[in-house]
Amino acid sequence: MKRLLFLLTGIVCLNPAFAQDMDGVEIRTTKVTDSIYMLEGSGGNIAVSVGEDGVFLVDDQFAPLTDKIFAAIAEISDRPVRFVINTHFHYDHTDGNERMGEAGAMIVSHDNSRIRMSGDQVIALFKREQDAYDEVGLPVITFSESMTFHFNGEEINVFHPGSAHTDGDAIVHFKTSDVLHMGDVFVRYGFPFIDQPNGGHVDGLIRGVQRALDRTGDATRVIPGHGQLSGRSDMIAFVDMLTKIRDRVMAGINAGHSLEAIVASDPTRGFEERGIETGPFVKTVYDSLTHGHGH
Ligand SMILES: [Zn+2]
Repeated sequence: MKRLLFLLTGIVCLNPAFAQDMDGVEIRTTKVTDSIYMLEGSGGNIAVSVGEDGVFLVDDQFAPLTDKIFAAIAEISDRPVRFVINTHFHYDHTDGNERMGEAGAMIVSHDNSRIRMSGDQVIALFKREQDAYDEVGLPVITFSESMTFHFNGEEINVFHPGSAHTDGDAIVHFKTSDVLHMGDVFVRYGFPFIDQPNGGHVDGLIRGVQRALDRTGDATRVIPGHGQLSGRSDMIAFVDMLTKIRDRVMAGINAGHSLEAIVASDPTRGFEERGIETGPFVKTVYDSLTHGHGH
């Protein structure tokens, strides 16, 4: 069991899922297609592919929710969980790993996410520590660029969009069903969290969404890392917003302005309805552009 330590009180909390009492959390199931479902509880959205071959999961939320997640899956399939893809290493997407591993699931991630889950981590923006997982909770298969599963009659391509939300992101494309799970490269809670100290980069995030957009059509269903089931137009609006804000921050940097002056120039203007504190977000964009590598 992982310990989640608050290092300080009064944390900046961009993600409303954090610090919830898990006892009161219920798992809500949304049918996406005949064979793919989205589960929402607390933490990152879960995708479930069901069929003859078994259950294929994308992300597994928090360990205290695992029994409820298994119960929700049992409502739609009587098969075991064979694979769990981790979209990145953050605990609100992966803390179910140890229970999933114990239950016999094969855990899969990008190379860098396994490295991060193998050691203790700090998620600086939230002032949180994430302890290393036991062996049973670590991915047994990792990839660097992309890999493809042939499972439940479906071609499932898992690809690394480059360093975007972290340096170990995976986007899952259920090609046959025309469904994407974006991990936290695309979220619906407002300005995205870019984990710059753990390899995230605003330019990578923009390019990652664009790479995913290349695979979409008007009928594509998009499961965001957090928030409601979405589509192509929602991702276009998201990437347009990010590009505009990024360009404003870059213009300030090029003009020699300080972070404080750039924050004061309100580079998120026009997007206030997103309703999230803009200072920390502008700082992560600034940090990416001034000392992130972005590739
Ligand atoms: Zn995350």
